[in-house]
This record gives sequence, C-alpha cells and structure tokens, in this order.
Amino acid sequence: MSIYGSNVFNDAALKERLPKAIYKALNKTIAEGRSLDPAIADVVANAMKDWAIEKGATHFTHWFQPMTGITAEKHDAFISPTADGKAIMEFSGKELIKGEPDASSFPSGGLRATFEARGYTAWDCTSPAFVKDGSLCIPTAFCSYTGEALDKKTPLLRSMEALSKQALRVLKALGNTTTNKVITTVGPEQEYFLIDKKLFEQRKDLIFAGRTLFGAKPPKGQEMEDHYFGSLKERISAYMKEIDEELWKLGVSAKTKHNEVAPAQHELAPIFTTTNIATDHNQLTMDTMKKVALRHGLVCLLHEKPFAGINGSGKHNNWSMGTDDGMNLLDPGNTPHDNQQFLLFLCAVIKAVDEYADLLRMSAANPGNDHRLGANEAPPAIISIFLGEQLQDILEQIEKGGATSSKTGGLMEIGVTTLPALPKDATDRNRTSPFAFTGNKFEFRMVPSSGSIAAPNYILNTIVAEILDEVASRLEKAQDVNAEVKAFLTEVATKHKKVVFNGNGYSDEWVVEAEKRGLPNIKTTVEATKALIAEKNLAVMEKHAVLSRVEMESRYEIELENYIKTINIESLTMIEMAKRQILPAVIKFATNLAASINTIKATGIAADLSAQTELLTEVSALAGDLKKKIAALEAATDKASNAHGDSYAQASLFRFDVFEKMGALREVADTLETLVDKDVWPMPTYAELLFNI
Ligand code: ADP
Ligand code: MG
Repeated sequence: MSIYGSNVFNDAALKERLPKAIYKALNKTIAEGRSLDPAIADVVANAMKDWAIEKGATHFTHWFQPMTGITAEKHDAFISPTADGKAIMEFSGKELIKGEPDASSFPSGGLRATFEARGYTAWDCTSPAFVKDGSLCIPTAFCSYTGEALDKKTPLLRSMEALSKQALRVLKALGNTTTNKVITTVGPEQEYFLIDKKLFEQRKDLIFAGRTLFGAKPPKGQEMEDHYFGSLKERISAYMKEIDEELWKLGVSAKTKHNEVAPAQHELAPIFTTTNIATDHNQLTMDTMKKVALRHGLVCLLHEKPFAGINGSGKHNNWSMGTDDGMNLLDPGNTPHDNQQFLLFLCAVIKAVDEYADLLRMSAANPGNDHRLGANEAPPAIISIFLGEQLQDILEQIEKGGATSSKTGGLMEIGVTTLPALPKDATDRNRTSPFAFTGNKFEFRMVPSSGSIAAPNYILNTIVAEILDEVASRLEKAQDVNAEVKAFLTEVATKHKKVVFNGNGYSDEWVVEAEKRGLPNIKTTVEATKALIAEKNLAVMEKHAVLSRVEMESRYEIELENYIKTINIESLTMIEMAKRQILPAVIKFATNLAASINTIKATGIAADLSAQTELLTEVSALAGDLKKKIAALEAATDKASNAHGDSYAQASLFRFDVFEKMGALREVADTLETLVDKDVWPMPTYAELLFNI
C-alpha cells in the first residue's frame, strides 16, 4: 500500500519534513484549535512547497467549498520572478494561511454586496493538504470581509466544536476524567450511475440537467434484481480499480465497492473519519469519480434521479460521536440496558432529531432529491428513527419505569450442519428508514447523492449539541446524577417515542400513521427551505455559534435561488428537446406512415391499411397534444422566470406550475417514444443507456 496517502501532506510527511519544535507547535495548534503563529506558518509553507514540487506540483490553490455545494480552486504558480530576470519557487506562510479569491461570482445569498467582492480563504489545518493535477491543494474555509461564512466548511468546523463542548460537559457530569475532546465521525456511502459517454453526448438532458427529462420505461428495469451485488463487468471493474488508486493516493480510504439495486448503479464507501475530513474526502471522491469515468469512455452521473422509474442515488451518512481516548459514544456494548452513558447519548440524538426534524429534512433537500424522497424507493420525506428491536424494547422498558434487560440475538439456524451457527445480530436491518441506528452509529439515508455532506452533518452536530447542552445543565445541577439521567431517559422515551418507527417506511400506512403522530411530511425542497428561517432553528444555530441569523437567511436565499435556476434549466432543456428533436421526429414518422398508406393505396391492391391508419391517427393526435403541452410549459416558464421579487413565491411557481407542466409534457413524449419507429427516435433510449456496458 505504498500509494496510500502518497499525495497527501499528512502527519507522517509533516513529521519527516518539519523541525521537531515546529512539528510539535503545529500539532498543538491543531489539537487545541487555535490560530497558527505566522513564524511557524512560514516554515510549514516552505516544507509543504518543497514536498509538493517533488510530487510534480507547479501551482498551489486554496481549495474551498462555496455554497454551490461543489469545490472551487484558483491556481497560482509557486513561481516568483527575481531581479536578475530569473525565477524562484516561492510559497510563504501568509499565502498558506490566507487567500483572497475574488468571490463576487459565488453565491452569497445577499451576504456580500457585489462591491465588496472580496472573500477570504483560511487554511483548515485539521484537514491535510494534498497534490492533485499538478497543484498543491490547501483545504480552506471561505468567508466574507466581515467574517460571515460563505461556505460549507466553516459552519461544519464550528458545529464540531459546539458538539465537543457540550458532549464533554455531559461526560464530565457523568464522572469522566480522561476525555478531552469529542469528535463527530462520518463514513458516507456514495451511490452513482455509470453510462457510456457516446450515449451521454447524444442527450441534451443529461448534458444540461444531469438527468433524463424524457424516456419511456425499458422492457427490463430492476425487477429481476440481478444487478445488486452482481459480478462486476470488466469495464466497470477497471474503472473502480482506478478510482480506488486515485483516491488512495489522496488519502481517501475507499473501501467497498459493489453494484447497487438499479442497472448501471454502483456504490463506493470509505472508512469513516472526522466529519470535516470526511466531507473534504467526499468532495474529492465525487470529483475523482467524474474525472476517471471520462478516461474509460464513461460518464459518472451523481444526480439523485437520473432515470425515472429506476432507483435513484443517495448518500448514506453514517454518523457517530467518538472521544479522543477511543470511545464510541453510540456503542451500546453487550448490555445496552445498563449502559447509562450510551442511553443518554442515544436519547439525546432521538430528542434532537424529533425536535429539529424540519431542519434535518432541509439539510437533505435539493431539487434532485425531490424525485426520491417519498417516491416509493428512497426513505420517505418524513423523518423517523429506526432503533431496532433491542433498543426499542429498552426504550419501552424505560418508559414503564426502568430497563432491566437487553434482548439478545441468539444463534442463526442455517440448516446446514457443515456451516457454523452464526451469532445473530440483536437487530435486523431496516432499509426503509431515513435515520437508522446501525449497530454503533446512525445512518442518515436521506442525504442527496450529488450534494455536499457538510450541511447534514453541521445540522446534526448542532441539534445534538443543543440537547447535550440541556442534559449537561441538568446533570451539573442535579443532587443525584443517576436519578436525573433516568428522568431524562424517561422523558425521551415518553415524549419522543413518536419519532421512533421500526416498520416499513415505504408503506402508505406509515404516511397516515406519521400524520397522526404529528410528524412533519415536507415533500418538496421549496417547502423545506422554510426550516432555515423558522425562529426555533435560527435560535439554535445562533446559540451554538454555527450560523448567525444572517448566515441562515443567506442560505435560505441560496437554496431557493438554486431551486429556481435548476428547474428553469430543466424546463428550457425540455422545451428545446421537445421542439427541435422529438416533435420533428414524430412528424417525420407520421409523414412516412402517410406516404406508406398512399403508396400501398396506389397499387390498387385491397390491402388492410388499418395498422398504418390507426397508428397515424394515434400519433398525430399525440403530436398535437405534445405541441400544446410544449406551449403550456413555455408560458409557465416565462411567467415564473419573470416573477421577480420574493424568492419563495418564485420558487413556488417553478415547483407547482412549471415542474407540473414538465411532467405533463414528458408523459406525452414518453408515450410517443413507445409508438415511433426506433430508427427515427432522436436520442438513445433507457434500454440503451442502462444496459449498454
Ligand atoms: P453497511 O451499511 O453497508 O453495512 P458498513 O457497516 O461497512 O456498511 O458501514 C458503512 C459506513 O459506516 C462505512 O463508511 C463505515 O466506515 C462507516 N462507519 C462505521 N463506523 C462508524 C462510526 N463510528 N462513525 C461513522 N461512520 C462509521
Ligand atoms: Mg448503508
């Protein structure tokens, strides 16, 4: 594994290249989360530069995560001209610590007036620098002249501090004297589709929108379930091998790979790490996946729903809290019922998720995910928690007065004597829950495949920090800590059991039941954005200094703006495809049919022309309908894009008028696709896209 981390300026590289005293000082700064001494920064920068040049780098860039959800980089050469007409390679501590990219074209949601275009990037020394494509990339936070966060990393780092602070208070109140820091960890499982590049290039919808806007169901979809964990095809295998190698070089511990449920769908999971590094790594993973695909004549689709009627993609955000002395705070141990500390942290998460379900839901919302959540495949738009039989049982015992036992799994009978009896997990898996306890972590499964995992994690960290704050304050004041813990657990078991649901989250009954329980079911991104400006949410984000009110409001604006832009692009793409590709093809087909009818008639033979005439009648009627639906979509899009002023109202027009009309247009076009001669259909079909590799 000599390639692992070979392009990362990691701890080993730091140790090797820095004078001992500087190495120690830097580590102390990182551990204590303080800002870096400029004198140290100069030495670190120089060592970093020498290392990067050896790795073939000529440039450096502050690598940051603006609110677009992707990463941004502006490359500067190390080169610095000297008076004698030559040049030296230079990189100062100042350049390492702080950058000043012109930030005017990144979304700020009103945070930065355009005349104050200046944005600053600041080195996040907790995430190591790396060399990628000939540049030394320095992970940085990005903020405005006045200090507001213009990115996704800053609130994430702030939220990690908030959670650590409150969790430590709880641990101390429980008598812990050894832990100094609590770290939130994440391992995101990334789903994606691979399709042939030549076919991709023939579809404007894939090019402009990242998803198909038209496309009739293929004769075979995923019903045979023959793809899931199926053996990998050679071309895919070669791709996955290269992805692993590229990621390993960058220190991303890509670990598992397998086929997913849908044809052409796959998954990659890394080994978990701290939430900020995991977020950086997930960005690198998405980037690398797309880039390497092109080398294999493939295109990697990260969209949440590239194909209607076929499973979409998500990201399973496996989240937990660990201590610097090696404890996983969500590890139940063998007898969870008497593991007070575990139950306390578990119940804090349950309460947080119940009280801030709307905010958590928002953190997973994007226009692509609207096609998944609640659409009978992905978890529903309702936030609920799966605990499994064992923990559910303990929670019920607590509610009734106290937990005294833990159900065990026993042995699994395989029924073959030569196979050993396998110990059964105390809890089976549940794949339909949006927020599932999976052994020693929670798996937040709503997260969109194309998006950054920063927001889901900074929201999760913050809302859990809030409940831990409440718990800590109670325990610190309590005469009898044990009694207070019990009181809190009982309260959660009683008041928040409504968010716990172990059944089938995909069923219609659950939607009805959830409504009875008073759980929110927020179906669209547009409606979800309201959570960003709800008073209780503004208050909690502000209280823990993760996002101020203005920072939250700016994110509200950006989410709406992004929604508006996305649907506008999709709609314009549909109109273009329908007008200039589909309708002409249909007319050509109808004309051919008419010509055939005339030609046959001209022979004077009394042939049966009913097939041609009926088809011609049907296709012509649908063509007329198609034309009408195009006109309706054009009018709606026009109206919505001219509705300036209130972003929420404008986004609503796009969702409840434009988006609906897109669906209506698609329906007619997809019916036509099943009738029109394959040879005149102007784009590759689902069958070709999905079963070609
Ligand atoms: P699956 O859900 O497919 O069974 P695994 O159990 O292998 O997958 O775990 C899925 C992801 O969860 C992996 O990325 C793994 O590293 C991550 N994970 C495991 N433990 C933790 C933890 N304590 N904190 C965060 N993520 C974790
Ligand atoms: Mg999983």
